[in-house]
Amino acid sequence: MTSDPCICVGDDIVTAREAIRKAEHIAELVDESHFGVSILRCVQCRRHFLSLFCERIDWVDGDDPQTWVAVPVSEDEVQRLQTADIAADENVILEIVSNERRILYHDMPKGVAARLEWKIRPLFIPGHD
Ligand SMILES: [Zn+2]
Repeated sequence: MTSDPCICVGDDIVTAREAIRKAEHIAELVDESHFGVSILRCVQCRRHFLSLFCERIDWVDGDDPQTWVAVPVSEDEVQRLQTADIAADENVILEIVSNERRILYHDMPKGVAARLEWKIRPLFIPGHD
């Protein structure tokens, strides 16, 4: 990893999102229909990301709101995430990834325009079914 920030954490969020989407899949920690947790690794800088995919069921119109969150994590956090029982209690994620950091937040709510932004804050787990 060089001191130059990679595009995966760059200010151009569309480019960052694409870089993280194309990142190597390291592990699938939770794979439920409305909640997905995985570890990714940028193919360029090899930085790890924790990816959370959350979906709520829209019983009325079938237009299910979705939220995708990706956050850079350290090697140590990757190890801890891989050994934690996240399926049993998802809040263990927030104990491991606890401090404030840059979060890629892609919110695709029902009926309104999607929002894609960087947030600087502690990680949170969006609502899901
Ligand atoms: Zn990168």
